[in-house]
Amino acid sequence: AAVIQSCFRMLSVRAAEAGVSLQTELPKNLPVFIGDETRIKQILANLVSNAVKFTNQDGKVTVAVEIRQDNGLNLRIEDTGIGIEEKDLPRVLDRFGQVQTNYARNNDGTGLGLTLVQMLVEVHGGRFTLESEVGVGTVCTVIFPPERTLRLAEAV
Ligand code: ATP
Ligand code: MG
Repeated sequence: AAVIQSCFRMLSVRAAEAGVSLQTELPKNLPVFIGDETRIKQILANLVSNAVKFTNQDGKVTVAVEIRQDNGLNLRIEDTGIGIEEKDLPRVLDRFGQVQTNYARNNDGTGLGLTLVQMLVEVHGGRFTLESEVGVGTVCTVIFPPERTLRLAEAV
């Protein structure tokens, strides 16, 4: 939770400038996550900054953490932005892959963000999925295995 809060502070200014509202949905009793804090921050920062970057004014970005039935954690970053065409999905996950729309060109970057995210998620034994619909928005989900979470009762 602290990690999410600190990413929030980092990105809330940019979101506010872009006129995008940033929200979190966190369960009350978040389990302890076993992982590299710096890298988890990088995952979050990349996904949230993409969501803000590709969402127009008055749009919404939601960061949610869900505890699955199997005790694993899902991290979901959802936006109401421009979306990605289905045919472009493989490309944006690729190294340097960017969609060549005028919009994307106006939003410079290296196209490495999502590649890095995938690598960091894999390092933590997780999976990364991207669902998107043009003009509706994008949902990024990071799925961490249950071995990565510790219930507080188990922690003591
Ligand atoms: P960098 O992350 O290095 O600043 P980038 O954001 O362009 O550059 P990626 O984060 O890898 O690179 O994203 C690749 C491309 O995927 C983007 O250029 C954009 O076209 C598309 N994309 C990524 N996230 C979203 C999103 N939330 N909504 C719409 N398009 C997206
Ligand atoms: Mg990016």
